[in-house]
Amino acid sequence: MGDCIFCRIVRGEIPSARVYEDDLFVAFLDIRPVNRGHVLIVPRVHAERVTDLPEDVLARELPLAARIARAVVAATGCPDFNLFNTNGAPSGQEVFHHHLHVIPRRVGDGLRMSIAPESYGEGEAAALAGGIRKGL
Ligand code: AMP
Ligand code: ZN
Repeated sequence: MGDCIFCRIVRGEIPSARVYEDDLFVAFLDIRPVNRGHVLIVPRVHAERVTDLPEDVLARELPLAARIARAVVAATGCPDFNLFNTNGAPSGQEVFHHHLHVIPRRVGDGLRMSIAPESYGEGEAAALAGGIRKGL
C-alpha cells in the first residue's frame, strides 16, 4: 500500500527506532509511547486486521511477541507488559496496517482499560456460545 505509514516505515522511507527485523516483520518504538519502551510489531505485508494475515505470518507473530516482550522487560526495568492489538475503527485502530503493541507495565503507571462489564440474560450466553461454535 503506497501511502500507508507502516508500509513506508517497513520500506525505510520514514525513520523509526527499529529494534528488530526479519523476512516477515519489522519492530520499532511507538512514537507516542504509553510507557517508554512501547514497541510495535509490524508484518511487512500490508493487512488491516489480524484476521487478514496469512497463516505463516500469524504463526510467527506470537513467538516473536514473546521474545520482544522479554527484551522490553529487560531493557526498561518494567516488571510486566501488555500485548495489545486493535482491529478496525471501533476498536480504536488508527493505523490500518495490522500491528501488535508490546507495552511495558509497572504498578501505578495509570494505564487502565476499564468499563462496567455487561451481563447475560437467561439463555443468552449459551445461545451466543453456540453461535460462535457454529462459526468455527
Ligand atoms: P493503533 O491505535 O493500534 O492503530 O495504534 C497506532 C500506533 O501507531 C499509535 O500508538 C501511534 O503512536 C503509533 N504511530 C503512528 N505513527 C507512528 C510512527 N511514524 N512511528 C511510530 N509509531 C507511530
Ligand atoms: Zn501498510
